[in-house]
Amino acid sequence: MTDISKNIVRIQQQIISAAKSHHRDPSTIQLVAVSKTKPATMIQQAYASGLTHMGESFVQESLDKIATLQELDLCWHFIGPIQSNKTRKIAENFHWVHSVDSLKVARRLSSQRPPDLGPLNLCVQVNISGESSKSGISPTDVYGLVEQILLLPRLRLRGLMCIPAPTEGINSRREPFRKLRNLLAEIKVKFGTRADDMQHLSMGMSADLEAAIAEGATLIRIGTAIFGCRDVGAKHK
Ligand SMILES: *Cc1c(COP(=O)(O)O)cnc(C)c1O
Repeated sequence: MTDISKNIVRIQQQIISAAKSHHRDPSTIQLVAVSKTKPATMIQQAYASGLTHMGESFVQESLDKIATLQELDLCWHFIGPIQSNKTRKIAENFHWVHSVDSLKVARRLSSQRPPDLGPLNLCVQVNISGESSKSGISPTDVYGLVEQILLLPRLRLRGLMCIPAPTEGINSRREPFRKLRNLLAEIKVKFGTRADDMQHLSMGMSADLEAAIAEGATLIRIGTAIFGCRDVGAKHK
């Protein structure tokens, strides 16, 4: 077995055991393998081990890989910061976008989504820890953004995403994830059936996946624990 396939087996076991400890059905947790900076050959290995959901953060780099791997039945998730001049490529090439935090970007994605593709699945990124330097919309502004996105025809709003500030210890780690879960619950109350498609919490990375699963994560984004560290320059090797 390659390192990647061993890592995948280990992560899948971690997901199952975290789900069991928190009384959840593991099949409700989708593993998204974050392949940013890693070559297409590594994605092929992950695919050979049964993974089909890949996460990317850099548009140009991901387009090369998507083109190389077009024969594989992969579902591509865009999870990085979005510059408005890159929305067209994202709308044309990805199945999911987790990192939408402005109406401007959402409108562009909707109008640029090709008609022959289904609606683009989307999560709104929330700045749950209130860090001034971070992407994501504030929890108080999320309602207004959700309301507007629900009106856009070529998007399917599926839930919320967050990247919390790093903390020590499983209990303090759970707090921001619990906030995101509560925020989604409040949004569902406020928007009723209009928010029926909003079932997802994209949260949890290599270092905090158990805390995220404990709080209801349905999409977990794992890079390092599958593909190894992203060393400087790896992008160009
Ligand atoms: C890089 C990245 C990940 C994966 O992080 P790891 O710690 O390597 O698992 C997850 N989510 C986002 C948004 C990322 O940019």
